[in-house]
Amino acid sequence: ASFWPLATFARQEKLLGGLLVPGFDERSCLSRYRSAFYHKNLTRSPSAHLIERLRQHEALQRRCGPGTEAYRAAAARLRSWRRNGTKDGVCRYLVLVPYRGLGNRILAVASAFLYAVLTDRVLLLNGNTSMGEIFCEPFPGTSWLLPQHFPISNLQNLTGDVRESYRNLVQNDSAASLVSRLPYVFVDLDHSCTYHDKLFFCDDERQFLRRAPWLVMRTDGYFVPALFLNPAHQDELDRMFPRKDSVFYLLAHYLFHPTNKVWGLITRFHSSYLRDSDERLGIQVRVFDGDTPFQHILDQILACTSQEHLLPDVVTQEPPRLSMAGARSKVVLMTGLSSWYYENIRWKYWQSATATGEVVSVYQPSHEEHQLSGYTTHDMKAVAEMYLLGMTDKIVTSGWSTFGYVGHGLGGLTPWIMFRPENHTTPYPPCRRAKSMEPCMHGPPFYDCRAKHGADTGKLVPHVQHCEDMSWGLKLV
Ligand code: GDP
Repeated sequence: ASFWPLATFARQEKLLGGLLVPGFDERSCLSRYRSAFYHKNLTRSPSAHLIERLRQHEALQRRCGPGTEAYRAAAARLRSWRRNGTKDGVCRYLVLVPYRGLGNRILAVASAFLYAVLTDRVLLLNGNTSMGEIFCEPFPGTSWLLPQHFPISNLQNLTGDVRESYRNLVQNDSAASLVSRLPYVFVDLDHSCTYHDKLFFCDDERQFLRRAPWLVMRTDGYFVPALFLNPAHQDELDRMFPRKDSVFYLLAHYLFHPTNKVWGLITRFHSSYLRDSDERLGIQVRVFDGDTPFQHILDQILACTSQEHLLPDVVTQEPPRLSMAGARSKVVLMTGLSSWYYENIRWKYWQSATATGEVVSVYQPSHEEHQLSGYTTHDMKAVAEMYLLGMTDKIVTSGWSTFGYVGHGLGGLTPWIMFRPENHTTPYPPCRRAKSMEPCMHGPPFYDCRAKHGADTGKLVPHVQHCEDMSWGLKLV
């Protein structure tokens, strides 16, 4: 049998240290209570305050979510917008429009969720993506997918130029009264958003956003580091996350439970290729210069794994050292759109013996050749591979890749990040150990909320620093 009976499995472990609640139907989403089998231990435990906030938030999602009277009333108000003010106690919503690749979407959902918790808003995901087929519902007794026939029909096409955008509000002296006259407020956090859009990151929502029953947000990335720079959220975030280096890790373990189909992809691969080896190394290869293979990237992978002693050297002289029965086994899990890097590394360890006597096996679950985000089977493979990367012991990732961030973030692993090559040459050094397991925020604000002027936001507080792979990016450490 591939699983131990759940009864023998400690309750606290199964519930990930209190992150999850019991009571979900186990068979409809096997991964929810079984993922803990596949991780040695929780890398970081949730604080009591985080657990308390999650329980409160679940109650909010249930009280106000789709199918409730509160939701019907709020949607009706949006449909036939009349200015009738938003009274306290009325449910408020955050509709997220995630887009781009799956790594981008996962980071966007995690960030929006934290913002929703901080501001007591019900999080609803625009259902026009494969998210619902890939992930189980995270909140008990309700759905986080935006129902069909939502009154705003063109969610995907909203931009910061619309009348309802935060960009316009923030430049208006009477924003507080203006917001009461708008059916919703649109927050554009696309990487191409403007200075005024990014003032959202300094927003103290008590001043006017709180009056907006509906907030619609478009983002494709991880904006949690910016929330940690906003004085309005600082105390609460400190209590929720006494350690700042594992925010994504905890949020992801709370939110993202692969559906049974995806879980099958993960567990069958794990049983076949990963489970029985002494050590597992993940190598995530993401190339942004096109889908053809590049020698300089293969060289970079080999240089990184050799210099950092992640993979053994091979001997070219015959006869090789006799490999004894019971020699240490090392499995390399590679992911990438191309199989060329994998073929080369596998051949290296097939052709020659290792200098250490270790047995190195190399596997790659898929090679899709091209990015086809939005197609369910393609997205399922992508998320399965991110999970499998998270089940390794050490991991090498490609800089700038949100796919890689999710892989190491899920696994609670501090990666070795390969720098993004320039001019088709292998960078030196080829890679570097990261400062933390957190994802990098690619489009950060350059504004000090307290001083109210431009600033180097990587220098304001010790736990928000610039990323290893993107000098202007921000990450929690
Ligand atoms: P990013 O572009 O590297 O930041 O990562 P994203 O996940 O946002 O977008 C890349 C998309 O390309 C993924 O979601 C997949 O659809 C596809 N892709 C890229 N690399 C891989 C890979 O190693 N395996 C699989 N199965 N798909 C990949």
